[in-house]
Amino acid sequence: MNKNKFANDLVHWYIDNHRDLPWRKTSNPYYIWISEIMLQQTQVATVIPYYQHFIASFPTVANLAAAPLEEVYKCWEGLGYYSRARNLQAAAKQIIEENQGKFPEDYESLLKLKGIGPYTAAAIASIAFNQPKGVVDGNVLRILSRIYQRDDNIALDKTKKAYQVLCDELIKNVNPSFFNQGLMDLGATICKPQHPLCESCPVQKHCLAFKNQQQEVLPVNIKKVKHQEISYITCIIHNENQEYFLYKNTQGLLQNLYGLPQFDVESPHAFEAAFEEAFHDSIEIYAFLKDVSHVFTHKTWRMHVYAARFTKPASLKLYNWSEIEQLPLSTAHKKLFKLIQH
Ligand code: SF4
Repeated sequence: MNKNKFANDLVHWYIDNHRDLPWRKTSNPYYIWISEIMLQQTQVATVIPYYQHFIASFPTVANLAAAPLEEVYKCWEGLGYYSRARNLQAAAKQIIEENQGKFPEDYESLLKLKGIGPYTAAAIASIAFNQPKGVVDGNVLRILSRIYQRDDNIALDKTKKAYQVLCDELIKNVNPSFFNQGLMDLGATICKPQHPLCESCPVQKHCLAFKNQQQEVLPVNIKKVKHQEISYITCIIHNENQEYFLYKNTQGLLQNLYGLPQFDVESPHAFEAAFEEAFHDSIEIYAFLKDVSHVFTHKTWRMHVYAARFTKPASLKLYNWSEIEQLPLSTAHKKLFKLIQH
């Protein structure tokens, strides 16, 4: 994958196709900051009128710093997560009192403001001040995981750090504001969590996941679970005749019941290897379906459910629907079949 070409194609697509949003008509860091904070837990369409009302009520950092907190809350009413409004005003006061009213321009100084984390600092630094700092949130993790076809778990901090390095590298030779906003728009409109619109994707030719038809599988996003909770990758595996692999548990919680294969592994690739070792047939996972939990009296299964197919005719015993209906199935897995029943 050519990094420069990918970044350039994304920027050109953004220039021609970006969403027309009110905070994109300005490079005022104060306005961009307000929009980014509002967008943290709220949809774009909801944010637009709140943003317009807020900046009309408090047109400058100084106005926000001087306002009674109740008035700030009043403008926030209905958006929820009021700590965001409280932190906004605390940071406005910091700017007035500690920085003589001058908005900090670099990533590190922005991070010192109350309520501004790495994503918001990178967004303001790049959009308002054209600094080459990549924005890395769930959307960007998903896009990069697919572009590079990486199956490291994006829920882990070490993965987020690695993707930040990657993103900072990609942004170096292009317009930082357009690159970051291009990623934001691509994640929101085309490279969606499920069923990405690859046919309309401006960076399709750079995307390894698309090339290898892994876009429905990636990213791997498995959150760590509490004690007594077990995280599995569970697979619904079938052949071209819609016959499914189930096996009889010989021990454990579900002894004598039939179930789907599942392993406590970190990635679809690791599942494929574990399956081959345990069952001596090879499969390929082709789509992520859903996260499903099942609670037993003393433990919870967190199942990350994928669909898979055999790579050659299976030597294992497979079952069609009418046979499956006759089998004693574990309840935990019975509900997973609903995911693929039409
Ligand atoms: Fe995402 Fe598909 Fe584009 Fe790859 S080709 S970046 S998976 S939309």
